[in-house]
Amino acid sequence: METAKQAKALQGGEWLIKESNPFETFIPEDFNEEQRMVMDMCTQFLDTEVLPIIERIDKLEPGLMPSLVEKAGEQGLLSTSFPEQYGGLGKDFITSTIVNEGLGGGHSFSVAIAAHTGIGSLPILYFGTEEQKQKYIPKLASGEWKGAYGLTEPNSGSDALGAKTTAKLSDDGKYYILNGQKCWITNGGFADVYTVFAKIDGDKFTGFIVERGFEGFTQGPEEHKMGIKGSSTVQLYFQDCKVPVENVLGEIGRGHIIAFNILNIGRLKLCAAALGGSKRAATTSIQYAITREQFKLPIAKFGAIKHKMAEMAIRMWVCESALYRASKWIDDKEHELMASGKTFAEALLGAAEEYAIECAMLKVYGSEVLDYVVDEGVQIHGGNGFSDEYVISKAYRDSRINRIYEGTNEINRLLTVDMVLKRAMKGKLDLMGPAMAVQKELMSIPDFGAEDEGAFSKELKYIANFKKAILMVAGAAVQKLMMQLEKEQEVLMNIADMAIETYNAESALLRVMKLTEQKGAAATQLQSDIMKTYLYDAADRINKSGKDALNSFADGDELRMMHIGLKRFTKVEPYNTKDARRRISEKLVADNGYHF
Ligand SMILES: Cc1cc2nc3c(=O)[nH]c(=O)nc-3n(C[C@H](O)[C@H](O)[C@H](O)COP(=O)(O)OP(=O)(O)OC[C@H]3O[C@@H](n4cnc5c(N)ncnc54)[C@H](O)[C@@H]3O)c2cc1C
Repeated sequence: METAKQAKALQGGEWLIKESNPFETFIPEDFNEEQRMVMDMCTQFLDTEVLPIIERIDKLEPGLMPSLVEKAGEQGLLSTSFPEQYGGLGKDFITSTIVNEGLGGGHSFSVAIAAHTGIGSLPILYFGTEEQKQKYIPKLASGEWKGAYGLTEPNSGSDALGAKTTAKLSDDGKYYILNGQKCWITNGGFADVYTVFAKIDGDKFTGFIVERGFEGFTQGPEEHKMGIKGSSTVQLYFQDCKVPVENVLGEIGRGHIIAFNILNIGRLKLCAAALGGSKRAATTSIQYAITREQFKLPIAKFGAIKHKMAEMAIRMWVCESALYRASKWIDDKEHELMASGKTFAEALLGAAEEYAIECAMLKVYGSEVLDYVVDEGVQIHGGNGFSDEYVISKAYRDSRINRIYEGTNEINRLLTVDMVLKRAMKGKLDLMGPAMAVQKELMSIPDFGAEDEGAFSKELKYIANFKKAILMVAGAAVQKLMMQLEKEQEVLMNIADMAIETYNAESALLRVMKLTEQKGAAATQLQSDIMKTYLYDAADRINKSGKDALNSFADGDELRMMHIGLKRFTKVEPYNTKDARRRISEKLVADNGYHF
């Protein structure tokens, strides 16, 4: 494995084959003064403007959500990273991630705001002509106009390119005539501007900007949903809808470029919002556990509850480490591309594409952390958790959608492995060399050489070994299954899970290493507990995923040898995770919430 004290950020997927330098890793403790202020502003916005009226929002009170979007616009929260020339604040990518996290705990409001600022605005910002940007972006940035995005159709969800909506040039050449239907459109009930995809002449998948009021464009009633009840979700209908030719977005026949690129950014932002939601739900649950008494004791004093609270903290902290590590990579790449002469739009799109693997992994993990937190949050609340009177039940219902949209978690897991392998095939990621080295290592006698006693040397070794486990399993799967691998989705899911665990574990370790260097070991004891507990548990999970994959396609001596290898690569020393979780939960109780 290559040792790299990189002068520049790792490229997408490279963490798998290279070591990372903790001191070049961005961690949330690196937020600058302005970024902290932005986070505080978002928290305050939710506390004062949104959460006090959350029940009214959930009843879809007419005009309420649009007015909140406008209020957020007045505070600059809709356009943090839009260029100033289009009415934005021109801040960096990390700051916009902070806004997504900071507003993430606002239930349906968070969904509306994320859809407006993300899929509702970015397609025009990144793919629009100068005229289109001038016309739409300042109004979207201020919140005067609200944005939505229509990709999904009744018969094409995950298979988005299977869309049936058609577009045909009118006889006078002035309009495209759209016919078809879109479904599940967030903000659809009140948006002014929609990015819609249709196939010109039935085959050229293309983006269009559709305005409310265009002839032939109507919408259905609000859907009755399991959660995010205050988020507007409707169907859109196009019946000979006349869209002026100047409203074609991007190149004809290249709508997929818009659809997929916008999703890369959306996935990372969804992770940020899910993290923000998790932190609020965790704090609510911790506070409940402190005040609720049973058997004459606050339930927070019971080991079973301590375990749950600590596990929430572990997953959130690890998620946060992974999220901001990748956000900085995207930020750096964006600057690098701009310095090389790319436009703002080309630079961010290029950066998000470079780290599309990480965006997909973060989407999966962020949404699953939130699901874990709200599920255990309900459990901590006992019967009250099942009552509409308690906000945790809303959080539970609202969480579930996150594993479904922005690409389901199955699709994102498949994409994770697919993108890694494609990068390797294109020569962008040298998997072959490291994979061969692992194979060679498998055949050799294990090296029981002198132990490196340096700080975190043990954990660094674990991470290096986890990576070897992935390379061994993925390498064997490619060799054995070849073209069939694509059809062996269970194996791809296993490999994706190993990758997600490893990327997360490494992100947490790097953060602890950097923090320890800055603050000393005593001040970072609890962060160390979090990281060590995660690594210890991740080793088992990686082992299980690896075994499940190997057992499905290998056999005999070869399988036995790889099992031994996997055992070696996921070996960790015993660690008292019970005591570590107790220490973490004591801190949560002392802080009256999650404030790591
Ligand atoms: C509340 C809400 C808001 C939404 N907002 C928007 C929006 O604003 N704009 C928009 O365009 N869309 C939106 N969507 C649509 C959303 O993106 C889709 O629901 C999602 O992409 C999944 O598509 P689907 O529902 O058709 O499920 P399907 O694609 O039918 O998937 C069903 C199941 O099959 C699995 N599956 C599908 N294909 C594969 C495969 N190849 N391999 C393995 N498993 C597979 C999926 O993972 C899933 O578990 C929204 C949806 C909801 C519910």
